[in-house]
Amino acid sequence: MSVGIVGGGITGLAIHHYLRESGVESVVFEADDEPGGVIRSEEVERRVLDFGPQRTRLTPSIRALVESLGLAGEMREAADPPLYVYRDGKLRRVPQTPQEAVTTDLLSWRGKARALLEPLTDPAKEGETVEEFLTRKFGREVARYYFGPLYAGIYGSHPGEMPMAHSLSKALDGAGIEGSVLASVVRKVLAGREAPPIVSFDAGLQRLPAALAEAHSESVRLGTPVRAIRRDGDGFTVETDAGETRVDELVVTTPADVTADLLSGVASAETTTALRDLNYNPQAVVHLHAEADLTGAGYQVQYDEDFRTLGVTWNASLLGRNGVYTCYLGGSKNPEAVEWSDEELASVAVSEFEEVTGASARPLSVHHLRRGMPAYDRSWSALDRVSTPEGVRLCTNYTARAGIPGRIREARTVAEELRERGSAPIEEVVPESG
Ligand SMILES: Cc1cc2nc3c(=O)[nH]c(=O)nc-3n(C[C@H](O)[C@H](O)[C@H](O)COP(=O)(O)OP(=O)(O)OC[C@H]3O[C@@H](n4cnc5c(N)ncnc54)[C@H](O)[C@@H]3O)c2cc1C
Repeated sequence: MSVGIVGGGITGLAIHHYLRESGVESVVFEADDEPGGVIRSEEVERRVLDFGPQRTRLTPSIRALVESLGLAGEMREAADPPLYVYRDGKLRRVPQTPQEAVTTDLLSWRGKARALLEPLTDPAKEGETVEEFLTRKFGREVARYYFGPLYAGIYGSHPGEMPMAHSLSKALDGAGIEGSVLASVVRKVLAGREAPPIVSFDAGLQRLPAALAEAHSESVRLGTPVRAIRRDGDGFTVETDAGETRVDELVVTTPADVTADLLSGVASAETTTALRDLNYNPQAVVHLHAEADLTGAGYQVQYDEDFRTLGVTWNASLLGRNGVYTCYLGGSKNPEAVEWSDEELASVAVSEFEEVTGASARPLSVHHLRRGMPAYDRSWSALDRVSTPEGVRLCTNYTARAGIPGRIREARTVAEELRERGSAPIEEVVPESG
């Protein structure tokens, strides 16, 4: 069996790596000249900037990858630094321990007391949104000022637009939390279980996919967009400008709308329509330079605040990045922001950052992500209508959780499933020149 992998983001490259490790023939087709997909790092004014994710948790699988690729010496590890929510004119520290939960000014005493009733509440109900679930479990205050901004803020969505089934329920399942969330957190604290450390690399997060692509450079085809996929006997023919490749199995890791186009010849119209329905939140990423004395991971802006900034990562403090701060704007609250000019985005990011932190800042770069984080909003119920043809696997943010740890985890599972089917050589047809 031979495997064709469409997309050389972290998912496609990790699947390829695991397949090659177990001796299965596979090939990656990546449209861009660089590997990594949304993971993109660049140097500006001799400062490392990340345009997509800023960091990852070093889960055991990622640690193993880092070590096998010889990247351990380039890794930057952050202590678990404080995180803030901006609300009512002030940055308020998010409690990370039971002691901090008692002292935080993010919540009133009444709000804290209400949250303690959570173990008496029922698990998620059918059709519930994240906001409804959090409010019913923890009370309105904790839902709006604590969990809501922290959870939904990651995706740039409003928690009232996110059905549990497509978002938080999956995260809770993944974390093995079935009953009370509070009881589970307390059990973890008592057992001394800590989250894996936050890491990046000296050259930025793109170092990881770049090293994966380098390690398998003979079978990772950069600058090679897949134009079409055809059924070919029991397998598939993958068409690119460089020729045709026949493979037995396909893994498609591209964003949902691209996947819909690529599968139009082999999947049902219902599937391709459903894939096109999945919303991603458009986001603008503005990097600032500031000589600010801020210690922590950054802040999320509480979504009722009259701000265009969704949140800011303090790369300077978190990862030792010389005065760098990363602002995210747009999301479901303000999707049109991604279309604003660079000057407008930079000016809004600077003025809101200065208002929140009191430190003066200047822009370093502006990046437009028209397809940012998966929105996990109501449009994601379309997933129920997706069914892939025999021999095609979909594997990216819409098939399991977004985030680098989740992507690596799913890549490993898919590679293991494919490995069980054996290996065969890749068959190539290169067009005659002229
Ligand atoms: C703004 C932002 C911030 C994030 N922050 C974090 C974070 O802090 N920590 C974290 O863990 N995760 C974070 N994430 C999530 C994480 O980055 C993603 O879950 C992950 O990188 C998705 O990887 P992927 O390979 O599945 O998809 P992608 O990265 O989208 O890769 C798909 C690839 O397919 C390629 N492609 C497209 N069309 C074709 C074609 N026709 N032929 C061939 N190739 C094609 C694309 O060029 C791309 O390389 C963030 C994401 C975003 C957008």
